[in-house]
Amino acid sequence: MSDNHFTVAIIGAGPAGSTVSMGLSKHKIRHVLIDKARFPRDKICGDALSGKVVYALNRVKPDVVNQIATASAAFLPSWGISFIAPNGKRLDVPFTIDKQSQKQAPGFIATRTDFDALMVENTSSEYCTLIEGVSVKHTQVESDKATLQFTDGRQVTANVVVDCSGAHSQLAKSLGIERELDHYCAGLRQYYKNVSGLSDEGYIELHFINDVLPGYFWIFPMTDNRVNVGIGMLSSSVSKHKVNLKEELERIITSHPEISKRFEKAEALEKVKGWGLPLGSKRRKISSDRLILCGDAASLIDPFTGEGIGNAMISSKYAVDAIVEAVNKNDYSAQVLTQYDTDVYHHLGPELSMSHQLQKMVKYPWLFNFVANKGRKSAEFKGLLTAMFENVNLRKKFRDPRFYFRLLFNK
Ligand SMILES: Cc1cc2nc3c(=O)[nH]c(=O)nc-3n(C[C@H](O)[C@H](O)[C@H](O)COP(=O)(O)OP(=O)(O)OC[C@H]3O[C@@H](n4cnc5c(N)ncnc54)[C@H](O)[C@@H]3O)c2cc1C
Repeated sequence: MSDNHFTVAIIGAGPAGSTVSMGLSKHKIRHVLIDKARFPRDKICGDALSGKVVYALNRVKPDVVNQIATASAAFLPSWGISFIAPNGKRLDVPFTIDKQSQKQAPGFIATRTDFDALMVENTSSEYCTLIEGVSVKHTQVESDKATLQFTDGRQVTANVVVDCSGAHSQLAKSLGIERELDHYCAGLRQYYKNVSGLSDEGYIELHFINDVLPGYFWIFPMTDNRVNVGIGMLSSSVSKHKVNLKEELERIITSHPEISKRFEKAEALEKVKGWGLPLGSKRRKISSDRLILCGDAASLIDPFTGEGIGNAMISSKYAVDAIVEAVNKNDYSAQVLTQYDTDVYHHLGPELSMSHQLQKMVKYPWLFNFVANKGRKSAEFKGLLTAMFENVNLRKKFRDPRFYFRLLFNK
């Protein structure tokens, strides 16, 4: 077999691509991992690494979790989330009920420059050939192989391609995935330092503000007194209400009655930057002959929280499972790889559809105000919200009108 033929070719070394690579190395499967950037590189993001990221890493390479937990200059431990309702009431929900028994925080916040570089470092293995700084220009899938052409004129072939190239994936289009405004979110990010009023326990803050519903403004604390500030809104709402998100972000920071006070001594560390979020609010076909899509290329971002890194890494785990099966059978056809679609939607589907329902409910500020008020007053309800973070079946209660009835009447 020639030097430029691999069992697997992975396009993109973000969280999805690097996780696939680590999984393939574990199974001793020879692969090439290609990224157009050289690491470390930036990726526009909220930078919140949820418990799902830790869960996925513990399955593929637990040592990375230790590396994160000990890299305290870059990774800020996060113990919970604060929801700020449209009426300004704040509801703090810890990520875990039993903090004392936890060795480390359930989540972390770190720049994607640091996190993605750490992930790529951990792909290093005798089974992985890493090619950085070169873009895959074209991918041709034939009956016996896939051929990838690079912008520098080189090419490689592989038995199967895993496309982890993110929100602007070209191969996703070949499977009929287009940018649909109802299933896509626009997001802006700006790093600041010296923002006041941050939580001592690294709580991330989601502010639901009337003028940006359905969507939210966020403040995520980071190491070195920095914060990740941003705003995200469903693209169909941006378009329908002709919202200028950049102006909204500036307006909140400079004029919102509570938030602006916290920015009085703050200093912007960069200009506002934007990127798209392909949401998992619609089921798509995410594999075909010799091709699997992972992460943002497969549109798997949580439609309520905007969390995409954990889902990307979970999809990578199932991609590796499907590839191991295909290698064993020496069959890379759509019939074999379709198990990947089944696994991804079996595990992420219920949660994605739940989050889609929650996203729709955010349109009703009174409902949000009501839940926040109740949560502030009732320790029992707060405990339930925390349990809901840990258990998707409990989250289904949010969809059930009887849940609100019981809350209303304290049943
Ligand atoms: C404003 C904003 C805020 C967000 N906040 C959060 C958050 O707080 N927490 C969270 O979990 N998620 C968040 N997300 C979502 C998260 O950023 C994505 O879900 C995540 O990055 C998906 O990982 P990925 O590996 O699929 O794609 P990416 O991270 O986009 O990686 C794709 C990689 O592919 C490479 N690439 C692209 N094209 C090619 C090519 N042709 N050839 C070679 N290489 C290529 C790129 O250079 C890149 O390295 C946010 C997104 C946005 C836009």
